[in-house]
Amino acid sequence: MKKTRIVATVGPASDSKENMKKIVEAGVNVFRLNFSHGTHESHQLIIDKAKEVREEIKRPLGILADLQGPRIRVGNTEPFEIEKGEIISVSDKKTASAGGKELIIDSDGVASALQVGERILVEDGVMRLQVVEKLEDSVRAEVKNGGMIKPRKGINVPDTKLAFGAVTEKDRKDLEFALKNEVDFVALSFVSNAQEVIETRENIKRILGRKDSLPQIVVKVERKEAIDNIDEIIEAADIVMVARGDLGIELAESKVVIYQKEIIAKCLRSAKPVIVATQMLDSMINNPIPTRAEVSDVSNAVIDHTDAVMLSGESANGKYPVEAVETMTQIIQDTEDSPFDDMNMKYDNIVYNDYDSVINSAHDLAVTSGAKAIVLFSDAGTSARMMAHHRPEQMILVATCNPKTYSQMSIVWGARSYLFECNLNDREDMINEVIELSKKAGRLQFGDKVVVILGKIPGRKDVALTGIRIVE
Ligand code: PGA
Ligand code: MN
Repeated sequence: MKKTRIVATVGPASDSKENMKKIVEAGVNVFRLNFSHGTHESHQLIIDKAKEVREEIKRPLGILADLQGPRIRVGNTEPFEIEKGEIISVSDKKTASAGGKELIIDSDGVASALQVGERILVEDGVMRLQVVEKLEDSVRAEVKNGGMIKPRKGINVPDTKLAFGAVTEKDRKDLEFALKNEVDFVALSFVSNAQEVIETRENIKRILGRKDSLPQIVVKVERKEAIDNIDEIIEAADIVMVARGDLGIELAESKVVIYQKEIIAKCLRSAKPVIVATQMLDSMINNPIPTRAEVSDVSNAVIDHTDAVMLSGESANGKYPVEAVETMTQIIQDTEDSPFDDMNMKYDNIVYNDYDSVINSAHDLAVTSGAKAIVLFSDAGTSARMMAHHRPEQMILVATCNPKTYSQMSIVWGARSYLFECNLNDREDMINEVIELSKKAGRLQFGDKVVVILGKIPGRKDVALTGIRIVE
């Protein structure tokens, strides 16, 4: 079993139940729903199917609702071609004129905020325009890089000052919809600071009317402010996504890998799961095999110790969604089988409390005793994440009686999880059962050592109990 997780975006190429099942069998751990596309009706169908697939497989499967955020998009309804040197108008829906070639921006206040000299980048910067003339509510812009402008594609205006909040009206509706469906993860796009994350979490608590078993917040790092505030953002986030698409446009493409490595290292220190996203196997949208550079990219993300890698267009609207997942799984497996992904440095991780110290010591115990597995009980999942961030060579076996935690383990590197009925609240029994099941599955043998962490036992004064067990 591979330890690095795969997040796959579900779209027209993969949204039949048959295909969803196929890509899960090929190695997908989390289904991503991209709220930049589709309707609540279409998302509902996908969520219902995802829950059916989840019932049928014997491991955690996460559902991630990725909110669009203050994303600027192409508002034209038909695709059209632009050529280098051409000068076209750029306007928003309100100021769009009837005729002529025109790029319509799908949000108000952008076209009027553009200044002469500023850049307009379309579809991950593939097409570039520069403002040459400012009119009343629109501008004229020269095409620097031509191509086909397609409806709903993203637009970036990295030079332009915009006054947007982090959560739009659309996001609010989508968030309520996602919470009603009890998704496991909510991703926030174009986050600038920690406050936006904290506010969203409060909002989620208010809407759900409870304080625990919440969906985890995935913060997409994709704008300059987020890089400037990266430490407070990681602290506020449950999970971090290196959103390389927009990050490469808003900052410099040449620095994307540097940010990727820095962010992953910081997340490892804070024991926050991290996802590397965008263009990982991009050419597989059209081809059945990846380029060598793409193989190298996935492999290197694994070597960076990311928790998860993500597929966007490759699984959502490409020609080879199943092959893309199979390819990713194979690259992950081969990289993990090599010595290159091994953790050869110890991160001086942030210790939040005594319980974290126990987990860290249990990891040391596993290493020095030559244990085959680490078996732990986790309620909210914190212990499992804390252990996973050491990227142990030993199996991490997680017992939980919290269904939300069980699903959320889908994103955590290497965690193999077991869900128990809540009335079976005796941790000792659960741990014994996990060992027994692992023995039956041939993952543990008679005489193997396992490190056991019972967690905080109600009624006992110890912070946590840990020790070595020999499999009988
Ligand atoms: P997106 O986010 O695909 O929703 O834009 C990922 C990224 O920007 O890389
Ligand atoms: Mn993005």
